[in-house]
Amino acid sequence: MFSSDQTIPCPVCNSKIPFDTKQLLMGIQFSCPNCQASIGLSQESKPIVEETMQKFNELKSDMGKQKNIN
Ligand SMILES: [Zn+2]
Repeated sequence: MFSSDQTIPCPVCNSKIPFDTKQLLMGIQFSCPNCQASIGLSQESKPIVEETMQKFNELKSDMGKQKNIN
């Protein structure tokens, strides 16, 4: 049921850490499966990410409206 196929590179070992955007925005931390480093949002960066995600979603819906002739 989860559509969370997003990954973020671990800042320590560069492994791919799977994360869920919604959970990330809720402040949940994710840990690297390789080195157990935890990544998450600080309260300060949360609005920035929310804004970025909003723009990203707008972009996605814009793309959906376009008909791709290929
Ligand atoms: Zn790591």
